[in-house]
Amino acid sequence: MHVAAIIVAGGQGARMGGGRPKQLLELDGRSLLQHSVAACDAHPLVRELVVVLPAALVASAPSLIGETRCPCRVVSGGARRQDSVRHGVAALSADAEIVLIHDAARPFATTTLIDRVIAGAVSTGVAIPAIVSRDTVKRRDLQSGLVRESVPRAEVWLAQTPQGFRREVWTTIGPLSAGMTEATDEAMLAEWAGLPVMIVEGDERNVKITTPDDFTQARGRAATPRVGTGYDLHRLVEGRPLVLAGVTLPFGRGPLGHSDGDVLCHALTDALLGAAGAGDIGRHFPNTDPAWKDAAGLDLLTRAVAIVRAAGYAPASADVTVILEQPKLSPHVDAMRERIAAVLGVPASAVSVKGKTNEGVDAVGRGDAIAAHAVAVLTSGGPQ
Ligand code: MG
Repeated sequence: MHVAAIIVAGGQGARMGGGRPKQLLELDGRSLLQHSVAACDAHPLVRELVVVLPAALVASAPSLIGETRCPCRVVSGGARRQDSVRHGVAALSADAEIVLIHDAARPFATTTLIDRVIAGAVSTGVAIPAIVSRDTVKRRDLQSGLVRESVPRAEVWLAQTPQGFRREVWTTIGPLSAGMTEATDEAMLAEWAGLPVMIVEGDERNVKITTPDDFTQARGRAATPRVGTGYDLHRLVEGRPLVLAGVTLPFGRGPLGHSDGDVLCHALTDALLGAAGAGDIGRHFPNTDPAWKDAAGLDLLTRAVAIVRAAGYAPASADVTVILEQPKLSPHVDAMRERIAAVLGVPASAVSVKGKTNEGVDAVGRGDAIAAHAVAVLTSGGPQ
């Protein structure tokens, strides 16, 4: 079967505000347009792509779309959505048997969703993915503004894209659509032409990005978490304070080091920098630099958080294991979690601190050293 996908990005995205067309705004490193094109390009039955762009953007299409697996044609949009779609259909190859029409503003369409749409189009001629309304739906009187009636919820379905059509359907609805009033989706054209339209199961995640709020939510969903690990060890010597996460523990010995030797903060600093791909503690705060002599571990951690945020990430959670024979860590764990959470900008519940002994084995077990392992999770840091 030869499936073609038309990705419609003809609109100017006026509802988003700002000067940039919304289909070019970035989500997790790629524009909405690129995500939507990639969603269709990735489906194994799709053999060709047609992208409909505003006329002003057609010349820069190769850089806006990027590489695709399937051959990709670009055409300019029309005054209305149905005119844009008509231009797209006119650019299809003669081989196309099933035509998918997809919004550039829906970056999350999955292969399984597209499977259902294709199967529906094959069986009925026209198929759309849709989800049932979770909210109670009211019909409002346009004159008085008051509720006229409630619409039975089971009758109300919220239409998504891609919508699927057998190619020959377009010979009927294509010419008709030019003279029709404005259609907000392609299925409306089929309905007006009196053709049956099948509903297949949509996907709650297949949202349309229309407003800045939608974008903020989508960014949160698209964010790929980044994970980093860190490790640190310091010798313990007489007469030094034992500081962990900025909390001083009553103990006669403490870590030897250029800085305060706060292994918990040092391990976590490396974990954060590692998760952001931003180097390590030695690169940012070298122990050969007098600036960092006796530096507080909590201060280095604060600086690392700033580096991570500048790289476009935000701390989400941290888990640290401190390995020491003595003293007991448990009475201080909550105070440590509070301090780390304040620096990371997360709730204390997102920070874990655990104490272990080394069962008398090796230097840590003999009480000659203290060590820490840390894992940090970062998410994309919101609007860029
Ligand atoms: Mg250290």
